[in-house]
Amino acid sequence: MEKLANFIDGKYVAPIKGQYIDNFEPATGKVYSLIPNSDEEDVQMAVNAAEKAFPIWSKMSTEERSAILVRLSEGIAARMDEFVQAESKDNGKPVSLAAHVDIPRAVSNFHFFATAITHFSSESHYMDGIGVNFTLRKPLGIVGCISPWNLPLYLFSWKIAPALAAGNCVIAKPSEITPYTAYLLGKVAKEAGMPDGVLNILHGLGGSVGDAIVKHPKIKAISFTGGTKTGEYIARTAAPMFKKLSLELGGKNPNIIFADCNFEEMLSTTLRSSFANQGQICLCGSRIFIERPIYEKFKEAFVNKVAATVVSYPSDPQAKLGAVVSEPHMEKILSYIELAKKEGGTILTGGVKEQLEGDYEKGYFLRPTVIEGLAFDCRTNQEEIFGPVVTLTPFDTEEEVLAMANSTQYGLSATIWTENLTRAHRMADEIQAGIVWVNCWLVRDLRTPFGGVKASGVGREGGLEALRFFTEPKNVLIKYY
Ligand code: NAD
Repeated sequence: MEKLANFIDGKYVAPIKGQYIDNFEPATGKVYSLIPNSDEEDVQMAVNAAEKAFPIWSKMSTEERSAILVRLSEGIAARMDEFVQAESKDNGKPVSLAAHVDIPRAVSNFHFFATAITHFSSESHYMDGIGVNFTLRKPLGIVGCISPWNLPLYLFSWKIAPALAAGNCVIAKPSEITPYTAYLLGKVAKEAGMPDGVLNILHGLGGSVGDAIVKHPKIKAISFTGGTKTGEYIARTAAPMFKKLSLELGGKNPNIIFADCNFEEMLSTTLRSSFANQGQICLCGSRIFIERPIYEKFKEAFVNKVAATVVSYPSDPQAKLGAVVSEPHMEKILSYIELAKKEGGTILTGGVKEQLEGDYEKGYFLRPTVIEGLAFDCRTNQEEIFGPVVTLTPFDTEEEVLAMANSTQYGLSATIWTENLTRAHRMADEIQAGIVWVNCWLVRDLRTPFGGVKASGVGREGGLEALRFFTEPKNVLIKYY
């Protein structure tokens, strides 16, 4: 059985205590590799390497750092197929999704921040009759990046690219459920000419190695993407140590459909925004609100399409949905479907496992599920399910749908479908979310701020926001009058 290794100080090394965890392939339900069960000793080893590397990396010219990150981006692109196959096998997502979304986006993340840093500038403030302030923005030192399993390399690179571009050394931990592409990244970084110790990739459980990263006094900032409960715990640990914190957490996003929308475009996008990546994208619109005059028309058209959606093994070119990420996660999603029934919901389609044959008979496949008849404030409509499950709710007025949309503890993203310009602006203004899409979904410009409000997180990633997060501003006033 293949054993993955940590990447520390430019080398692949076994975990110090020699402990490993099983890594499952979601499409077969079988263990296919072992990953290091690292702990605080491995974190200390990585911190030692990063401390040694920091003066070299932070003092290197921006152009040189940028060139190394561009080569890293190109290195992933050159191994596109290897990364695509690995991501799909590790996560259960269709190969086509990894090939069109996950890995190209990881390539773009490195390229974007490699070039963004060469345009990064800081402010100066002239004071009449006194002099001038200027603001230095220096790297923080060693930073920790912790990422989830749903978009493994995509989100891993979204954090470490700006951290590295800004001149920090990084200790990064991918999810223990999907470690493989992060494991492959070490050798690409090495080939790109990244100095040893600049990027260290540790594997293992959140409660051990993740916690040790958060608690280490020499790690100055934590950029975390994952569940709201984990974010809460990390905030409790890191805040008293005065670490910088960026927390990208859960969501329960509304998809609001007005009767005047472009119906066909809305319908095909809503299929994606509901079920892409088996519904395991923090930005998926899991609560669909439909203006009453088109409720029945939408319901019929949508349910027909969902019922015809092919759920299959990841390498099947017909597969629109693959496997969900793990057995416990599948059980959690099924338990929410049971809860929805108890809360009075009607399952319009799905609600059950998809049983595949042969090698895939033990895989974690679920039918995409549409539920109606639930109150907007029941648990099914308030708690994050993070799977291929959506609810349909009719509405009559803007005020009513806004109140329902804003009723959850979350506030990550929202989608609004209308051809009415003033209404689109009004709704976008009132909705409690960090990201609003009007007449589209998941269209991303990497320069824009990305993140959520309320229990969906603290801080923003993306563009200058990320570069500012990973640097410390220092203001200098020169008095010359
Ligand atoms: P999770 O919180 O269980 O784990 C995320 C990461 O944190 C993993 O690497 C895990 O090992 C680590 N971790 C767990 N406990 C830890 C601890 N005590 N200390 C340090 N690290 C710890 O989340 P998940 O199940 O991997 O991911 C799904 C969640 O992520 C969903 O809630 C989803 O909405 C959210 N998410 C949010 C965004 C966003 O941008 N807001 C993007 C993707 C996913």
